[in-house]
Amino acid sequence: MTALAAAFAARFAGVAITPQDDRYDQARAIWNGTVDARPALIARCRTAQDIIAAVILTRDAGLPLAVRGGGHSVPGLSMCDGGVVIDLSLMRTVTVDPRRRIAVAEPGATWAGYDAATAAHGLASTGGLISTTGVAGLTLGGGIGWLQRKHGLACDNLVAAEVVTAGGATVRASSQENPHLLWGLRGGGGNFGIVSRFEFSLHPVSTVLGGLMLFPLDDGQRVLRAFGDWAAQLPDEASMMAAVLTAPPEPFVPAEIVGHKVVGVAGCWCGDLDQGAAVLEPLRSLKPLIDMFSPMPYPALQQMLDGAAPPGLRNYFRGGYAPELSDDLIDVVLEHGARMPSPMSAIDLHHMGGAVGRVGAGDTAFSGRAAAYTYNLRSTWTDPAEDGQHISANRDVAAQLAPLSQDGSYVNFLTDTAGNSNAVVRAAYGDALYGRLACLKREFDPGNLFRANHNIRPAH
Ligand SMILES: Cc1cc2nc3c(=O)[nH]c(=O)nc-3n(C[C@H](O)[C@H](O)[C@H](O)COP(=O)(O)OP(=O)(O)OC[C@H]3O[C@@H](n4cnc5c(N)ncnc54)[C@H](O)[C@@H]3O)c2cc1C
Repeated sequence: MTALAAAFAARFAGVAITPQDDRYDQARAIWNGTVDARPALIARCRTAQDIIAAVILTRDAGLPLAVRGGGHSVPGLSMCDGGVVIDLSLMRTVTVDPRRRIAVAEPGATWAGYDAATAAHGLASTGGLISTTGVAGLTLGGGIGWLQRKHGLACDNLVAAEVVTAGGATVRASSQENPHLLWGLRGGGGNFGIVSRFEFSLHPVSTVLGGLMLFPLDDGQRVLRAFGDWAAQLPDEASMMAAVLTAPPEPFVPAEIVGHKVVGVAGCWCGDLDQGAAVLEPLRSLKPLIDMFSPMPYPALQQMLDGAAPPGLRNYFRGGYAPELSDDLIDVVLEHGARMPSPMSAIDLHHMGGAVGRVGAGDTAFSGRAAAYTYNLRSTWTDPAEDGQHISANRDVAAQLAPLSQDGSYVNFLTDTAGNSNAVVRAAYGDALYGRLACLKREFDPGNLFRANHNIRPAH
């Protein structure tokens, strides 16, 4: 037994998994199959006390430390080589206080578990578009989802949190206690400590009008222009995205279009259902190849796209913010979308605004308040020999979109972290937000123990 394993055996009450353990390979696998890190020890926690013990043991051993919530970090920030992974996946309980409309989530919860718990009370708050993603990482980076234009980003619904700091203390962040820390947790990622408890405000949401339409790529100019004009007028109840993708071999897709590139529109209407049907009418008049929009329970919409994001494939994401769906941007998206070298890749255009855009640029650490769209260039493939081809195709689109984009980018869609240089992270936040985050980092983690993330360097 190594000294590290012995120290954990003596002082850590959770499950410690070392490379000799049969569970090791399963425990070090995360969503992105390109990540093949080999930690010295994976510390599966059951309680906040376990998290504190694991932080202290890792810090005292002088080893790298990574934190795993839902394990969906595309750059693989929740695994590390040779260090300790503090794995929160056993801490998944979500409890709901329907009277106060508050949900309390443990840090290993996924959106599937969160939505099931809140839906039991006819309540919800904004979560990710794929239900297997972790509540923790998605919220701490911002959190784009189907309720965002009505109820804000996931992080806007975060009203309090408990955080285990580098010193092994637990601090509470809320509007009353350490409000500056709550500010940083709303977009600043896992830089300030390990969140052991998330508290979210909830809203009445039950049946929504949700679904997907597919249009022929040949008609893409007309459809995306009409989508942009339509989206610009939408009430807050509508959160929509457009995409270029390959029609998947799903039962609801007619055989003759499977495998063809298409323009998709997916979304959610969380208001009156008749009004929602009227709002969708202009899209329907564009004559989609398929139209699956229908009333459904909100958790069903949250799982609608899960089949498109299975774990273990090879992935590279890159994102940005756009001020509008301009003709030039549509041209780039359609041209590159038509040439995407994998049928699993896609270009997503998330429509922002509404409640997201009404939060002030400096009121949280999320950098995209002024954007009309957040785009995500998602490359997914299976063969490691093709890594270069897919990553360079993705970077080509990103380079073409850069001049049509606003400053900054969404850290949760950022695969490149540029190693030791944090210029990419600084650019993603912009100088003003980054400067404030660096001061907060100096206060809560001056030694940069928590650096397996989109890292903010402590201010001098
Ligand atoms: C399939 C897929 C779908 C996605 N869909 C969306 C979407 O709809 N909307 C959106 O906004 N984003 C989306 N994303 C991006 C997603 O928000 C990020 O990948 C996010 O970091 C995932 O969080 P996680 O907890 O699953 O990841 P993890 O890999 O566990 O963690 C990600 C980062 O958060 C840190 N972290 C995790 N838990 C804690 C904690 N308790 N305290 C402190 N730090 C912690 C980790 O150290 C790491 O740096 C998607 C990603 C994938 C792969």
